[in-house]
Amino acid sequence: MVVVGAGHNGLTAAAYLAKQGLRTLVLERRDRVGGACTLETPFDDDRWIVSPCAYLVGLLDPLVIDELDLRRHGYRVHTIDPHIWCPFDDGSAFTMWHDDKKTAASIDAIAPGDVDGYFAYADLFGRIRDSLRNRTRDTWVGDAPTRDEIESLLGNDAEPIDVVFNAPIADVVERYVKSDRMRTALHGQGCIGTNAGPRDAGTAAIHLMHGMGTLDGVPGAWGYVHGGMGRVSFALKAAAEEAGAEVRIDAPVAAIEPGDGVVLEGGDHIRARAVVSNADPKRTLALLASDAAPAVFKRRVDEWKSDSPVLKINCALSRLPKFTAAAEHEDRTPYRGSVTISTGVDDTQAAYEQSRRGIPAPQWCELYFHTAYDDSIAPPGGQTMSVFAQYVPHTLADGDWDVRRDEIADLALDSIARFAPDVRDVVVGRQVLAPPDVEARIGLTGGHIFQGECLPDQMWDRRFAPRTPVDGLYLCGAATHPGGSVIGLNGRNAAMAVVADLRA
Ligand SMILES: Cc1cc2nc3c(=O)[nH]c(=O)nc-3n(C[C@H](O)[C@H](O)[C@H](O)COP(=O)(O)OP(=O)(O)OC[C@H]3O[C@@H](n4cnc5c(N)ncnc54)[C@H](O)[C@@H]3O)c2cc1C
Repeated sequence: MVVVGAGHNGLTAAAYLAKQGLRTLVLERRDRVGGACTLETPFDDDRWIVSPCAYLVGLLDPLVIDELDLRRHGYRVHTIDPHIWCPFDDGSAFTMWHDDKKTAASIDAIAPGDVDGYFAYADLFGRIRDSLRNRTRDTWVGDAPTRDEIESLLGNDAEPIDVVFNAPIADVVERYVKSDRMRTALHGQGCIGTNAGPRDAGTAAIHLMHGMGTLDGVPGAWGYVHGGMGRVSFALKAAAEEAGAEVRIDAPVAAIEPGDGVVLEGGDHIRARAVVSNADPKRTLALLASDAAPAVFKRRVDEWKSDSPVLKINCALSRLPKFTAAAEHEDRTPYRGSVTISTGVDDTQAAYEQSRRGIPAPQWCELYFHTAYDDSIAPPGGQTMSVFAQYVPHTLADGDWDVRRDEIADLALDSIARFAPDVRDVVVGRQVLAPPDVEARIGLTGGHIFQGECLPDQMWDRRFAPRTPVDGLYLCGAATHPGGSVIGLNGRNAAMAVVADLRA
C-alpha cells in the first residue's frame, strides 16, 4: 500500500493498514509529517514551538486514540475551561464554562433574560450530537449516512434537521438569545474556517460540527495538546511505524498510476495495489493522467469549494496582553479559554461580504494562549498567542499578499487592540499565514483549512467517500467524510474501505 501524504489522516490510515498486516509506505512531500497538524520553530529562538495551523484538539476520535494507543505514543491533552471568553466594549465579558452553574452566573451578570434561552440553545446542539453520534449509531464512523437516515435519526424533527442542512447560525442564535452581548459571543462559532457569513445558509452546521466530539470524556470540549498540536501527528507516526509502516519525508509524489503505484518526483516508481491519497481532491486529481478519472468525478472535484477566509498569526509574547474587561484578570480566566473578539453579528456579516469583494476585513478573531496550560512550548517566562482571524480573501482585489501580509496582519491586531489595547506591545515575534501561505506550505488548495468547505452542500454523503471511481485509488483526507479538523476517522474510514475491498 502507498499512502500519499503524511498528514494526520494519512498517518492514521497507514497505522490501520499496517495493523492489518499490509505492507504500507507513506510518502510525504514536506520535510516534516503532520500536514496542517504539525509543529514549527519559526522564530530565532527554537524554544518557541508553534502549532502553525491546527492549534486546538476537540474532534480527534476516542476510537482512534484508543485503538492506536496514542497516549502511550505521547498524546496528552489539557482540556480548556472556560470554553469561550468574550469581552465587550463596556468592560463586561461572557464566560462559557463547562460548569453550567458558572455559565448561568456569567449570563445572569450581563444578560439576565438570556439564561434559559442560552441553555435551550446549547441543548439543541447537544441533542443533535447525541442523536448522530452514539453507541448504537455513530454516523461519523464508516460510510456517510444519507439525508433520509439523518432525518430519521433526528426523529424527523424540523428544527434539528434545519440545523444540520440549512439554518444560518444567526437565525438560530437570535431565536434563542435576545441580548446583543450573547448574540455577539455565540454567532462566530458558526463561521470558523468557513467562507460564509453568520447570516448565510448552512453556518449553524459549522457550529454543530465543532461540537460533535468528546474530549477526555467531555462532550463538545476542546483542549491543547501538550507540546503542541503536531504531537498528535507524531504519536500517529509512532503508532504507524510500530505496526510496521514506513514513513518517508521529502518524498513528493509526481504521479499516481492507479492499480500500479506511484512515481516520485525523482523518477522512482513504487508499485502498490492500492494508493490512498491524503492530498486534497484537486491535488490528487492533478496527480492522475488526464484519462484516468471519469468526467463526472473530474467535474465534482473541479466544483469543490476550497477558498479559505482565514488569516493565522502565531505570536511569541513577552507577557500576556491586558484586556480592558479586566474584572476576571486576576484568576487568568481570559487566557484559559478561547477568546472571541467580535463586535456583533452584522459586523461579522459585513466583514465576510467585504472579503468576498477581495478586501481584507479580519475583524472576528479567536485567540488562544497555549502557555496558560503548558509552558513546554516557550522559553522561560515567554507566552504565546495564536490568532485565528476572519475574513480575508485568498486573492486580494488590490495588491498581493507578499506585499500586504504584515499590513493585513496589523488589521487583525487592531481588532484585538479594541479589547486589549497593549496587544501590539507584547508581540516579540510573529508568523503570519494568509490563505496562499497555507496553500503553498501545506498543499491545501485555496488554503482551505478543512480541505474544502464544511457547509452542508459538501458534507455527509456530499463529501468525498474514501472509495473513488478510479479502481485502486482511495482518498483519506479531510475532504472525506466526516469532514475537516483533526479527527483521524477519515484515515480510519479509508483504511477500512481498502481492507474490505482487498478481502472482497
Ligand atoms: C490555519 C489552520 C488552522 C486550523 N485549526 C484547527 C484546529 O485548531 N483544530 C483542528 O482540529 N483543526 C484545525 N484545522 C484543520 C485541520 O488542521 C485539518 O483539517 C487537518 O489537519 C487535515 O488533515 P489531513 O491529514 O486530512 O490533511 P493535510 O493536513 O492537508 O495533509 C495532507 C498531506 O499530504 C501531503 N501531500 C500533498 N500532496 C502530496 C504529494 N504530491 N506527495 C506527497 N505528499 C503530498 C501534504 O504535504 C500534507 O502533509 C486548521 C487548519 C488550518 C490550515
